[in-house]
Amino acid sequence: MGTEKDPCAECGRGTAAGTMGFSDRRVVEWDGAARGFLCGECQAAIVAARQGEPLSDDEVRRRIDSGVAAMAWASGPGAQGQV
Ligand SMILES: [Zn+2]
Repeated sequence: MGTEKDPCAECGRGTAAGTMGFSDRRVVEWDGAARGFLCGECQAAIVAARQGEPLSDDEVRRRIDSGVAAMAWASGPGAQGQV
């Protein structure tokens, strides 16, 4: 299988239309163009870990920002497309 479309920033599961993650995904935009996605399961897990306190868009952005950076750091050049 190829690269997931609209991958969740936390678990990497695809959240594009037609996938299981689509219906309850969270989409945030930042820096005017970049978009990030969070599947419903990860949202629920994060909210549960915070004793039910909901995530603001800003917090999602920050999580995605650090998550994307961490993933790029871990995978390195040439590792694109791996899950
Ligand atoms: Zn997820």
